[in-house]
Amino acid sequence: MHGWMGKMAEVDLTTRQVKIIKGDPEQYKVYLGGRGLGARILYDRVDQKIKPFDPENCLVFTVGPLTSTSAPTSGRFSLTTKSPLTGTICESSSGEKWGWQLKKCGFDALIIHGSARTPTNIIINNDRIEFKDASDYWGQTVSATKKKILSQYGRNADFLSIGPAGENKVLISCIMNNGLRALGRGGLGAVMGSKNLKAIVIKESSRTVPVADPEKMKFVVAESNKMLRAHPITSKGLPEFGTTALVNIINEAGIFPTKNFQQSQFQDASKISGETIAKKIFVKRTGCAGCFIQCGRITRTKQNEGEGPEFESVWALGANCGVGDLETVANAAYLCNELGMDTISTGGVLACAMELNQREKIKIDLRFGDGKKILKYIAKIATREGIGNEMAEGSKRFAKKYKSEAYAMQVKGLDLPAYDPRGSQGMGLSYATSPRGACHLKGGYMIGAEILGAPKMINRFTRTGKGSYLAEVQNQEAVIDSVIACRFATYALGAPYWARLLTAVTGITYTGEDLMTLGERIINLERLYNLREGFTCKDDTLPKRLMREKVSNGPAKGQVVDLKPMLEEYYQFRGWDTKGVPTKEKLKELNL
Ligand code: SF4
Repeated sequence: MHGWMGKMAEVDLTTRQVKIIKGDPEQYKVYLGGRGLGARILYDRVDQKIKPFDPENCLVFTVGPLTSTSAPTSGRFSLTTKSPLTGTICESSSGEKWGWQLKKCGFDALIIHGSARTPTNIIINNDRIEFKDASDYWGQTVSATKKKILSQYGRNADFLSIGPAGENKVLISCIMNNGLRALGRGGLGAVMGSKNLKAIVIKESSRTVPVADPEKMKFVVAESNKMLRAHPITSKGLPEFGTTALVNIINEAGIFPTKNFQQSQFQDASKISGETIAKKIFVKRTGCAGCFIQCGRITRTKQNEGEGPEFESVWALGANCGVGDLETVANAAYLCNELGMDTISTGGVLACAMELNQREKIKIDLRFGDGKKILKYIAKIATREGIGNEMAEGSKRFAKKYKSEAYAMQVKGLDLPAYDPRGSQGMGLSYATSPRGACHLKGGYMIGAEILGAPKMINRFTRTGKGSYLAEVQNQEAVIDSVIACRFATYALGAPYWARLLTAVTGITYTGEDLMTLGERIINLERLYNLREGFTCKDDTLPKRLMREKVSNGPAKGQVVDLKPMLEEYYQFRGWDTKGVPTKEKLKELNL
């Protein structure tokens, strides 16, 4: 077998047993790895009777055939589980080096279930997996955890860990990756917390990935790198300004949600933009294993130093909360990382609370623009203190408690990211149909075509054609998440490049068309998972504000999302019935 290591590790935290499972070549071939393989495993193991915090819920970590090879941006890995925030299937991917090392330990997947009786760390040393008591880690912040792990297991150890928020089962908690990057969305940290699992450490990894055709691989990698070095986004925008290069672009397009989506342009956007970050707080570039783009940033404020803030964090804790002070926004992002919290959903629930306060639905000392208070409330959420206990449940449950659901800007329980879909209709459809709830990464990144003109510019205000276009984008993205590579690389590299890389690594001939079918299968499998959980077409919707309140100013003035016709076209193009259920014929066609 080439490209895959041929085995998976299954860890039972309850019994402290480890089982090594032989990988199924046919399953690898049609689901690849990452998101695809994760969806298959979760579908087969975690059904509708199992709740997110039940010990039987699984954390399915997967790598892909390109991981740890010379393919560009191949340092990523994926985690799939049932989300406690949304109740949906939830897949998240991250970079750094952890996935790269997991594969070099000889595993295509690490499946964790059960629940430890006391705080526990999992330590992986090549194919040896051990359990260690983590009582003295429990309650520690992410940076304190990092310090302890590196002193105990050596400076080259790579680790995933939760912070206090995950331990407290905060539904908007995340899992931090080497203390720098995150498996951010859907409350994944709380699933680890529910299992009493503080960290997963990889101490040593020494395997190499078998490549079927090394000569061909060298050639395709060189060509791919040439394309990446020629594309303005991957050669200039991301390396020079990181993801925050988007702040001014999105604000000028009039789709930068401000004050809980009450406005669509932020007057202080330039104060928190990538250009300002580069001038005022930038320290150095950083990034994932196997990637020369290095879009990450280490920054320093007067009080602190840390990773980011990335575009989504700058928006969520900045514009969405009406805060235009860069140092405060960066400090808030560092604090979320320290406590192990998703910056997008944290910004979402803070902005929701601010609007409830503005409308006198609650009484709280938290107002739009009040940066200092943001820090105070982030800490309260992580420790579930006072009203922080209610906010820790995410904006949907929080707003419902105060009979104010209209002010929770979420879909299926997941807070919207940094694009107002009223000025990008396809993005509205993307949020409504994304399997894990409103998300720019899993629903289809229509901002590429509707705003950035990548791979081509399409009219952002039209409805016709968006259903079919989005379905194709989703299929392609599901492939990239399974290969597994970075989305940013897809600005320069289309499906045929990934097919050539895969063919060279695995020795199995894939075409661009094969990959699109493979992506379609994954999207359908995720859909089947959510339908089995009881989700229906009624959940493919958006907050009412976005469908009823017209944008008041800027280039998107007068727009609302016209979801219904786009959704009908989308279902039809997908071969789903009018209720959004895949037809028997479609499932047969996809071998599902
Ligand atoms: S472009 Fe950025 S996120 Fe993507 S692999 Fe490279 S460093 Fe990681």
